[in-house]
Amino acid sequence: MPRIAVIGAGAAGCFCTAELRRLRPEAAVDVYEAGPKPLAKVAITGGGRCNLTNSFQGIRSLAEAYPRGERLMKRLLKVFSQEDACRWFEAAGVPLVLQEDHCVFPRSQDAMDIVRALLRKMDGAHLHLHTPVRSVMSGLSGHLEVDGIPYDAVVVTTGGAPKGLPLMEGLDLEWVPTVPSLFTFTIQDPGLRALMGLVTEASVSLPGTAFKAEGPLLITDWGLSGPAVLKLSSYAARHLAECGYKAPLCVNWTGLREEEIRENLRSIAKTHPQKQVSNTPPEGLQARLWSYLMGKSGIRADIRWAELGLKGLNRLVATLTQDSYSIAGKTRFREEFVTAGGVALSNLDPATLQCRKYPGLFFAGEVLDIDAITGGFNLQAAWTTGYVAAHAIAAL
Ligand SMILES: Cc1cc2nc3c(=O)[nH]c(=O)nc-3n(C[C@H](O)[C@H](O)[C@H](O)COP(=O)(O)OP(=O)(O)OC[C@H]3O[C@@H](n4cnc5c(N)ncnc54)[C@H](O)[C@@H]3O)c2cc1C
Repeated sequence: MPRIAVIGAGAAGCFCTAELRRLRPEAAVDVYEAGPKPLAKVAITGGGRCNLTNSFQGIRSLAEAYPRGERLMKRLLKVFSQEDACRWFEAAGVPLVLQEDHCVFPRSQDAMDIVRALLRKMDGAHLHLHTPVRSVMSGLSGHLEVDGIPYDAVVVTTGGAPKGLPLMEGLDLEWVPTVPSLFTFTIQDPGLRALMGLVTEASVSLPGTAFKAEGPLLITDWGLSGPAVLKLSSYAARHLAECGYKAPLCVNWTGLREEEIRENLRSIAKTHPQKQVSNTPPEGLQARLWSYLMGKSGIRADIRWAELGLKGLNRLVATLTQDSYSIAGKTRFREEFVTAGGVALSNLDPATLQCRKYPGLFFAGEVLDIDAITGGFNLQAAWTTGYVAAHAIAAL
């Protein structure tokens, strides 16, 4: 009877175990979990609603969703895609709903339905709670050993490891240093803070780099948040870590190109020359934000379009499209963060996620150097990699 160890009862470990139970019901599967409960993080994902995957319709390329691990995900999603994940959970008794923003949730809006479905499918595996694994070694017999116990196959699914992975110390594997991803920016600007709560479509970028992201931007009491900032924090996770989370930030409040917004303002000036600039914001720009940006451009609140002149127009265009701020630090986004870095993908056979150096040793989930922006892509990576590892083990 094959003996299999799964280390970590999180999304990837439990999904892998569920598939192993289906494919190899005769195998003895031990699941080791350091904490008191399995799937503790899944239970709180998506604010307790669990954004378990995404239709992938809102992204232009896979690199947009997976700043790290895009090539491997492209390959593995052909084996187990977002549609497969949806079918899997629906077949496991969890009806799902696809939101307008392309995110997929349980119809009940309750993450516990995902937890319960996974636990049902894992039935028959031996779950060892409160059991942190200290070491995985390649024993003299060629067998892998988990804290001295021999196994035919071992899957490491210990999640994001900000401080490295001590249990791997006995193995010769490459590790990509970890840094946090998915955080918001601290910006000390009282004018901006006065706009707290305002959400607008914008694009944000880091001057002097190619890092750029678009989407809703939320002004908070500590600075800037919202999907545009979270995406930028993910794309530039390593760069921002190297800068100590202090960097210049450029905000384009319109998302339009400079020529487009210039044309837009000229057209308002032509149509409404006698109206006050402050009363006629460009389409889509909220009045509160417009008056803040006018102030920042040094334009009088009572000025009329006819009086604005070329200099005034240029100043407005510059503030609208290249408004500059200083990032003074990072703040967690509702505790929803992931780690970039981890087990280097070069250690693994990309078709099976098996270690090239240690046959029988597999990795899945966030412990790998794969991470994504928000929207269900991180859990999809956990399901997909867990699935691939399970199928490769079943075929051993
Ligand atoms: C608050 C929050 C909300 C999130 N919401 C979403 C969302 O809605 N959608 C989305 O796609 N992503 C979301 N994410 C990200 C997503 O939850 C993770 O990417 C995903 O859970 C990773 O799965 P995993 O199995 O690799 O790791 P985890 O789910 O972190 O599981 C790893 C498990 O391994 C255990 N472990 C660690 N070391 C050991 C050891 N030595 N021995 C035994 N056990 C060990 C841990 O206790 C843990 O239970 C969220 C993250 C957070 C923090």
